[in-house]
This record gives sequence, C-alpha cells and structure tokens, in this order.
Amino acid sequence: MTRTAGQQSSAGAAASIEERAREVPIVTRELRKDYEMGAETVRALRGVDLEIEENEYVAVMGPSGSGKSTLMNLIGCLDTPTSGEYWLDGQAVQDLEEDELAEIRNREIGFVFQTFNLLPRASALHNVELPLVYAGADREERRERAADALESVELGDRMDHAPNQLSGGQRQRVAIARALVNRPAILLADEPTGNLDSRTAAEIMSVFDELHASGQTIIMVTHEHPIAAHAARIITLRDGMIESDDATVAADPVAEMVDS
Ligand code: ADP
Ligand code: MG
Repeated sequence: MTRTAGQQSSAGAAASIEERAREVPIVTRELRKDYEMGAETVRALRGVDLEIEENEYVAVMGPSGSGKSTLMNLIGCLDTPTSGEYWLDGQAVQDLEEDELAEIRNREIGFVFQTFNLLPRASALHNVELPLVYAGADREERRERAADALESVELGDRMDHAPNQLSGGQRQRVAIARALVNRPAILLADEPTGNLDSRTAAEIMSVFDELHASGQTIIMVTHEHPIAAHAARIITLRDGMIESDDATVAADPVAEMVDS
C-alpha cells in the first residue's frame, strides 16, 4: 500500500488509523471509489482523508459530479471503497461481508434522501416501522417506536396517511422519523431540502438543528449555502477530492474549535 508524502510508513499509519478509529467514529484514509463504465473508469473519489467526531454537524458541498453522493454512500455503508480505508465506530468497513455491512448500516446509520424514498402505498406509520422489521423488533414495539418517532417530528396526527396525502415537508419528516427510528449513531442526508420550497426547507432545517442540539451526529449534502450554514463545518469536494474543510462562522463556540 502506498501512502502520500507526509504520512508514516504504511505499517505505522495502519496502526495509528486503528487507534484513531477507537476515538473518532468516522475515519477515512485515502478513500477511493472507481466506477467501471464499459471501457472507461470514472474516478468518483480520488483519495479522501476525513475524520468526523461524535455530534458534529457537517455539510458536504461541491459541484455536481464531485463525488458527494459517492462519499455519502460509502460513509453510509451502502457501498464499499475501491481502495483505502473506512472505519466506522471502530470497525474496518472495507473488510466487512455484505451481511455485516447491512447490519452495521441498519444499526449505525439513518438515511434521508432528496426524493424521500417512501413506500407510496404504505402509511406513514408503516414506512417508519420498516427499519424495525429488518432489526427484528416485534409488532408492538415497532408500532410504539414508530409512533414515538413520528410524534418527535410532529406528525402524531398523520400516522395513517399515505405519502400522497402528505405535503413535501411532511413526507420529508416521515423520512426523518424513519431514519431515526433505530436510533442511529449518524444521520446522513443527501440534499434533504433539494425538492422543497424555501419555507419548507427552513422547517426541515429546524428539525435537523434540534436533532443536532440533542446530540445527533449529522452529515448532510447540499449545494445551497444558506442550508450549509446550519452546519458547524463545511467540507467542499472537487473532482473526488477534498478542496476545503472549514468551520462555519461561530454558529456556536464548539464550531470555533473544530479546526484549531
Ligand atoms: P455528486 O453527488 O457530487 O453529484 P456523485 O458522487 O453522484 O457526485 O458522482 C461522482 C462521479 O461518479 C460522477 O462522474 C458520476 O457520473 C459518477 N458516478 C456516480 N455513481 C455512479 C455509478 N453508479 N456508476 C457509474 N458512475 C457513477
Ligand atoms: Mg449527488
């Protein structure tokens, strides 16, 4: 394994990454992802070194095609890297088998997507219960926890509604409840406000802000600066690499410490 200049020998670096991963929930080193497209190889990520601490609130920005969704999919264990390392809560994700990957994903990660990705014919309650089905919870516990999650996003009175009986903002709140119902360590959101008008986007961002205040780690992709400004740290990707990684202007005192 080759390392870029400035890093230690590969053996030393491997030992230190493992140590680092005991302290920091998300650690990546030289993370790469290639997609084979016929004869062509698309280099979607070209060596990403990243650490994200517990309870951080991070926005990922960058032009279309810069690798934001690819990075989120790797962090979220939906996919594995072509090379490099990713440690999530002390586990080397690149070494996991498909079933272990699904398990860690279900336990550690909640996803929110731009297009909500709800089951169209299922009620809000049923949509939110779904991750608990995979987690093996019994029926009563599922209903109770799904109802609690919906109440926490102020949809206690909409549990029996199907997605097409809900507004865009309500649909996204169902998706947030679904993402949180397993109490994941990390909430990942890929353009969560991309399909919403600005008033509804603000409503969704206040849900995120409250979640962060209550201790949730959040990583969110956006290309809108006012949305990114909710985060304490902005990582900008360009051509599959980190172009910048900055604390946002003193939204809270902790933000000022991020880069020091
Ligand atoms: P972003 O989310 O920043 O717009 P993506 O991570 O979706 O960027 O894509 C990064 C690059 O990888 C782009 O060139 C894109 O076309 C390519 N890409 C993404 N997903 C795939 C895939 N499944 N197969 C082939 N190429 C892909
Ligand atoms: Mg994308």
